Amino acid sequence: MSGILLKGLEGQEIRLKNQDISLFEAGLDGYLIVPANEKYNTARALWNGMIERKPGLIVRCRSSEDVMKCVDLARERGILLAVRGGGHNVAGNALCDGGLVIDLTEMRSVRVDADNALVLIDGGATLGEVDSATYPAHGLTTPMGVVTATGYAGLALHGGMGWQMRKYGLAADNIAGVDIVTADGRLLRAGPDENPDLYWAVRGGGGSFGVVTSFTSRLHSTPRQVMLAVPIFSLERAPEVLRFLRDYMVDAPDELMVLGAFWTAPDTPEIAPGNRGAHALFLMICFIGPLEDAEKAVAPLRNCQPVIGDLTSIKPWTEVQKFFDEDYPDGRRYYWKSTFADELTDPIIDALMEHAQSRPSMLTSIDLWSMGGAYGRVGAEETAFGSREAKVTINYESNWIDPGEDDANVEWTRKSLRQIQELAQSRTYLNFAGFGEDQERLVKENFGKNLDRLQQIKAAYDPHNLFRTNFNIRPKG
Ligand SMILES: Cc1cc2nc3c(=O)[nH]c(=O)nc-3n(C[C@H](O)[C@H](O)[C@H](O)COP(=O)(O)OP(=O)(O)OC[C@H]3O[C@@H](n4cnc5c(N)ncnc54)[C@H](O)[C@@H]3O)c2cc1C
Repeated sequence: MSGILLKGLEGQEIRLKNQDISLFEAGLDGYLIVPANEKYNTARALWNGMIERKPGLIVRCRSSEDVMKCVDLARERGILLAVRGGGHNVAGNALCDGGLVIDLTEMRSVRVDADNALVLIDGGATLGEVDSATYPAHGLTTPMGVVTATGYAGLALHGGMGWQMRKYGLAADNIAGVDIVTADGRLLRAGPDENPDLYWAVRGGGGSFGVVTSFTSRLHSTPRQVMLAVPIFSLERAPEVLRFLRDYMVDAPDELMVLGAFWTAPDTPEIAPGNRGAHALFLMICFIGPLEDAEKAVAPLRNCQPVIGDLTSIKPWTEVQKFFDEDYPDGRRYYWKSTFADELTDPIIDALMEHAQSRPSMLTSIDLWSMGGAYGRVGAEETAFGSREAKVTINYESNWIDPGEDDANVEWTRKSLRQIQELAQSRTYLNFAGFGEDQERLVKENFGKNLDRLQQIKAAYDPHNLFRTNFNIRPKG
C-alpha cells in the first residue's frame, strides 16, 4: 500500500495517501522529510544522544502559515504531534515516535526594534543567534540561558535561567508578547492586552498551548565588556566557600549572578600542577554592570579561600555566553535532573560533597544556581512559572561518552537526586528535568497552585490535548 503510516493521538495507525501528501506539500513554503529521505537521520538527530526517536513525518516549516497547515492536518486526522524549536530539550520532547514533527529549524530569524528595546525572535532561533542580532550592533541583550546552541523557544516557555536572571528575571519574564498557532489552527497574538490568559500561560507554562512562531522580548542595555570571574577551589575548601557564598548572596547586588559547580579542574596552565583533573568547586560569577563595580562585588568571592586556579576574564557579552559551549557537544550521553532548595543548608552541602566525589564520570557537574534578585521579586501567580522562593537551584548534569556506562551514571544521578530532595524540596525545574520520571507528577509539583488555572486555559485553547508531547498540562473540565 502506498503513502505513509503515522501514529495517532490514541496510538492508532493513520495512513496518509500519496496524493494527500503531495497536495499538502504543494501548499507549503517549507518541505517534508519522510523516513525514506536521505536527510531523515540528520533531521531526527537530537542534542541528547541517549534519546532516539523515529517520527513518521517531519515538516520543515518556513512560515506561520506552514505551521497552521500542520496543526490543521494533525487535528483533522488525529495525528500525534511534536514541536521542535532548538532540539535541545534534555528529555527529547522535540520529537515523537511515529507522529508528525513541526520542525522550526528553518524559522530562526531575529529582528531588532532598537527604538522600543524589543526583539522579535522566530520559534526556531538559538540563543547564539539572538545575541548575535542584538548585541554587536546595538549593545542590547534579552535574558536567556548560558549555552549558545540551546533553542530560545523551549528555554523561554518553561522559564529560562541565565546570567541576567538576578538583574532582569527569567527569559519568560521578558516576553512582551507571542504569535502563537493554537490547536484550532488560528494564529493568535498573546500579550498584556490580547488573550492575556494565554500570555500568562506561555510565560513558564511550556509548549502545551500551541506553537509559538514568534516571540517579542524585551531588550536591556548591556556593557561592551563584561566580567566573568571563575575562581576554582579544591574540593576540601568547598564547604567553606559555599557557606561564604550563601551568606554573601543575602545582600548581593542584582547585577551579580553566581553559578557554582562541583566539576573537574581542567588540565591547563591556569591550574596549579597536581590539581589538574581533580575534583574541584568552580564559582562562575558574572556581573552585569560597570567593570569598577564588578571588581568590588566579585573580589570577596574570589578571595574567600585560596584557589587552585582562576579563569577570570573580561570580554564582550557574546564571548561570555560561549563559556560552556564546548562542554555540551551534540550527541553525547546526558542524563540531567534538577531540584529547587529554599536554602543551601549545611546538610545539603555535606550531601553535595559526597555526591561530588562519587561522580561516575569526570565530565559530570553538580551545578548550584543562586536565585533571588529580580527573579525572586516576581510573585508566584504573576506568571505561570510559579513560586520564586527557593534561593538555589541544584542541577545534576551527568555527561559521559561510553554507552556501557549508562547504568552507572543514571543510577548515580537518581540516587543523588533522591537524597538531595529529602533535604531540599521535590519541585523540579522542568527545563532540566530530563527523562525517566513520572511526568504528570513533575508537572503537578512544579506548577503547584498555578496548575488549576493552567488546566483551564488549556481547556479553552486545546480541549483535546493536541499539544501533548511536552511536560503536559492536561485540559480540565
Ligand atoms: C546544553 C544545554 C544548556 C542549557 N542551558 C540552560 C540554561 O542556561 N538555562 C535554562 O533555563 N535552561 C537551559 N537548558 C535547558 C533548556 O532550556 C531546555 O532543554 C529547553 O527545552 C531547550 O529548548 P529547545 O527549543 O532547544 O528545545 P526543543 O527540544 O526543541 O523543545 C523543547 C520543548 O519545547 C517545545 N517547543 C519548542 N519550540 C517551541 C515553540 N516554538 N512553540 C511551542 N513549543 C515549543 C517542544 O515541543 C518541547 O516540548 C539547557 C539545555 C541544554 C541542552
